[in-house]
Parts: sequence; C-alpha cells; structure tokens
Amino acid sequence: MTTDANLKSADADSAWQDDVRAGVRHVRDLASLPLSPAERAAAQEAAVRHKVRAPKTYLDLIDWNDPADPIRAQIIPSPDELVETEGELDDPIADHAFSPVPRLTHRHADRVLLFPTYQCAVYCRFCFRKESLTSIGRGYTREALEDAFAYIEAHPEIREVILTGGDPLSLPDKALAEIRARIEAIAHVRLLRIHTRVPVVLPSRITPGLVGALQGRLMVTIVTHFNHAREITSDTELACRTMRQAGFVLLNQSVLLKGVNDTVEVLEELCRELMYRLGVKPYYLHHGDLARGMAHRRTSIAEGQALAGALRARLSGICNPVYVLDLPEGGGKVPLGPCYLEAQEGDNWRIRGLDGEMRVYRDVVGE
Ligand code: SF4
Repeated sequence: MTTDANLKSADADSAWQDDVRAGVRHVRDLASLPLSPAERAAAQEAAVRHKVRAPKTYLDLIDWNDPADPIRAQIIPSPDELVETEGELDDPIADHAFSPVPRLTHRHADRVLLFPTYQCAVYCRFCFRKESLTSIGRGYTREALEDAFAYIEAHPEIREVILTGGDPLSLPDKALAEIRARIEAIAHVRLLRIHTRVPVVLPSRITPGLVGALQGRLMVTIVTHFNHAREITSDTELACRTMRQAGFVLLNQSVLLKGVNDTVEVLEELCRELMYRLGVKPYYLHHGDLARGMAHRRTSIAEGQALAGALRARLSGICNPVYVLDLPEGGGKVPLGPCYLEAQEGDNWRIRGLDGEMRVYRDVVGE
C-alpha cells in the first residue's frame, strides 16, 4: 500500500538524486560548464590528481563571470594543483600510521575515526585525504567494517565514534541505519559524530529518512564544513533546521583557504551566519594541511593568527571558532593562538586585552 509518508519520502529521495544526476560526476562533465576552452582544458588536465564531482545546486552558486569565485575555487580543478611543493605529504595527519585495523584510525584514547566509505558527494580540491579517495573499490560494505567494530568493542576507553571518509552522508539511509545500530550496540560508546560536506553541497539529501536512520541511543553530533557565507542558502538553512529538530548538535569546521576565505570580513560573515541563521556553532578554523598541490591555497601561520585575533575582537564567544593546526605525524589538533599572555612575574601575569592594552592580573588563590 502506498501511504502519504511513503510518497513524501520518495519525493525527498528523488530531489537529491536529481541534483546529483544533473551535476558534474566525471571529468567529461566539465564540458557542460560555462568555462572558456582554455579554462576547461586546464581543469581537465588538473583533474588527473583528484576526482571531480559536484551536485547541480552547489554548481549553481558559482558566479561564472568571476574567475576568483570562492565556490568555484573549491571544486573546479586548477593547474596549480599539479605543482607539488617540498614538505607536502600524502597523508598529512598520519591517518595510516594510527590505523590498527582497516577503515579505522585511533589517535586519541577516547575516540576513533571510522571510514565507512571513501566516496563523497563533492570532491573538494583542498581535501587532505585526497590520496585515500583516489583508490577504487572502497565503498561501504558491512564486511569491510567488521574488524573496525570488533576493535571498538575490545577498547572500552572509546567513547566517541567519528564517521568520516569520504563523506558518510553520501551513503544510503539503510547503510547509515546499519552502521548506527552496530555502533550503538557497543555499550561503552556514548556519542556518534559525523563529519560531512553534504549539508553544504547537497542539502536536499538531509531528508526525514536520513535523520531517522541516525536517531537512536547515541548523542549525535553533525560537524558540517562550510567555508564561505555564499554556501549558506535557504536550502542549507532547511537542512540544518531538520537536523536541529531531530536533536542533533551542529558544529562547523572551516579550512582557511587563500583566495576563498582569508579575509576577516569573509570569516566574520561566515561565522555570524553559521550561528545566527543556521544554528551551527563555528568550532574549528583549520590551518591548511600539507596536502599535495595545495601551496596556492595555504596561508602562513602568521596570517592565520592575525585573522584569528581580529575575529576574537569582533565576534562573541559562541560565534568564534578555534584556529587550529592538525599536526603531521599524528600530533593532534593544537590551537595556534593568538596568545594574550605576555609575561609572568611572580603571581602577576601581564595579559593583553582585546582592546590591545596591557593589563596585570594577579593570581589570587587559597592556601
Ligand atoms: S567532502 Fe570531505 S573527504 Fe570529501 S573531498 Fe571534500 S573535504 Fe575531502
């Protein structure tokens, strides 16, 4: 019997599938974009280093008259990606070195990364996992994750399971429900975290069926990946509202990208719109990782610190992300500042205020 609910769910599914079908799915689809012949040839040549994919609604955000458009910069291959600079790495944060079983990375005691798929709804040019995403045959199967689930079961110190990839929300509802059920059957796991670009690039995929697949015993946190306020639209607003109403905690991590969001005005607008319009807390502003072929999009740490300092002075605490670097060799995410402590003299600390003025603060503690 066909019910209203079934019809609505079928409509919701056909909307995002149409969006994917009408977008760019292969290098050859670049021919359908309004690029000049020279731009198209350059993009096709650069695409050998990293796959190309983008849904139609995300492509529609591009102003094709602006060669420096911030959406275009994130998804259209650039010849600069073919330039490798000394010091760049295949695996910038050492996912593989900390992988005791396939599809899992265990770097910090209380949490693991789980990789249910290495496929994404969009392929971001700046991706630090692009070397993993180029392999074939690395989609989701239940069998592929069994060793990872057994590892989590055997490690009671693990409290959080972070689905990442690839993009976990590019999987079908059924696969997500299976993964969620398998994780929540492990009693010591408390929180399911999902790192995803889907709410940004394919918001129609955030359907009642998808959020229902993730609801269960576990606290669910969705970490979105907006990099520019131009990515915030009525569609992304609806997607985030659907997830908030499902009871999910929403956070955002951005990557600091030269030519995309490396001005205080752009970052300020992004952070305010995330919090005030989407109800998504700006969580991290990542310094660019040492992914290969990305020197043209990386800022210096000094530039990043200056931006983080300016944001600190302009934005309220709930709108402010923490500027971090995910260190090579698995050193973890460390805050890069700026630091306001200038000196210590006995119990006195000299601390710079947000107004730039130096003040003395004395430690006053009981015996
Ligand atoms: S969606 Fe995430 S994993 Fe996929 S290409 Fe973009 S940054 Fe990389």
